Amino acid sequence: MNLDFIIVGGGVIGCATALEMALQGARVTMLDRGLVGSESSWAGGGILSPLLPWDYLPPVTRLTQWSTSLYLNWVSELLGSTGVDPEFAESGMLVLPPFDAEKARNWCRDNDWEASRVATQSVMPVLTQHSNSLWLPKVNQVRNPLLIKALVKRLEMLGVEIRPYTQVSAIEYDGNKVSAMKVAEESVSASQYIVAGGAWSRELFGSKSGALNIKPIRGQMLLFKLEPSALSHIVLQSGVYLIPRRDGHILVGSTLEDVGFDKSTTEEAAKQLHAAAARIFPRLKNENPVKHWAGLRPGSPDNIPIIARHPDIENLYVNSGHFRYGVTMAPGSAKILSNLIFDQPQPFDVSPYGWPSET
Ligand SMILES: Cc1cc2nc3c(=O)[nH]c(=O)nc-3n(C[C@H](O)[C@H](O)[C@H](O)COP(=O)(O)OP(=O)(O)OC[C@H]3O[C@@H](n4cnc5c(N)ncnc54)[C@H](O)[C@@H]3O)c2cc1C
Repeated sequence: MNLDFIIVGGGVIGCATALEMALQGARVTMLDRGLVGSESSWAGGGILSPLLPWDYLPPVTRLTQWSTSLYLNWVSELLGSTGVDPEFAESGMLVLPPFDAEKARNWCRDNDWEASRVATQSVMPVLTQHSNSLWLPKVNQVRNPLLIKALVKRLEMLGVEIRPYTQVSAIEYDGNKVSAMKVAEESVSASQYIVAGGAWSRELFGSKSGALNIKPIRGQMLLFKLEPSALSHIVLQSGVYLIPRRDGHILVGSTLEDVGFDKSTTEEAAKQLHAAAARIFPRLKNENPVKHWAGLRPGSPDNIPIIARHPDIENLYVNSGHFRYGVTMAPGSAKILSNLIFDQPQPFDVSPYGWPSET
């Protein structure tokens, strides 16, 4: 099949989708109204797992598990072909109490996840001590801004046309087809269109958004800089996590705020995140954050993304609504969309990611 695509949105989902389409031999143009990868996909943490996986419905478990199983090959291929290292790391994650230990144990057993109850001391002596923590050694991470850099380079190598600072102001329809995307004074067209506009996806569909329920959920993050290996693993307690990077940076996140398209940061959140981080890792009490930012996640009900064809418009697709786990879900979601478009078998039942029906 010789198809050409316009993809709106150059976050991790748009880039992963563009890569998948280009690998299928399609001609691809990716439009972003800003710098590619500078929104949620830059702001995120890069943990490759739901935070407390036992708190999510099976469609989230299935997609995150499958997508993470693709990750090592995906990033290795990116590193090998581009020379850009996305810093994939088998960090492991230590969950500190309180958490629902029985629910966690049952979920890990049923999903074949390696997990053990440990004293914090035995895994990370630098932390405040708890006798009943949970060690999840198979949780990985990636440095998301570097992942985007590698993806962009790979897309360029494959001949994908990337157009930053190109805002789509409207999708133009002709009957049950998209005829073009309106960009400034110009209209750009292709045979197929994919919306991967993150938190802005619903707005992009305009009058055709139907029951698509994607909205921005702000997340604020603090960054500290210590020496490399000051913290050896990801740590999570009561919704606050610390992610150590290879070079000694430590990300502390994050808030979950329903404040519309407002990306500003607040002093209050900085104080709360800093205090929570210092309770986990006391050394941070006397450290000043080197950066503080916010990003807008593409929030969706139950964190289940929509990876589907539009119900009424035959050449229009969506890959969006990955909410808290878009970095984790990126390779799997792109593959599911590609299977749908190129009529290939799916790895499991993908109907939960279908276009939502009006009720
Ligand atoms: C604080 C924080 C922490 C996070 N931590 C993690 C984590 O640890 N692990 C994980 O897996 N996920 C995490 N996430 C979630 C993850 O970052 C998102 O799910 C993911 O980045 C969504 O990718 P996206 O490509 O859909 O959206 P985005 O990265 O937001 O990309 C959408 C793109 O569409 C473009 N766009 C929008 N409207 C238009 C238009 N009209 N015309 C042209 N372009 C347009 C935007 O400019 C943007 O570049 C976190 C997010 C935040 C904010």
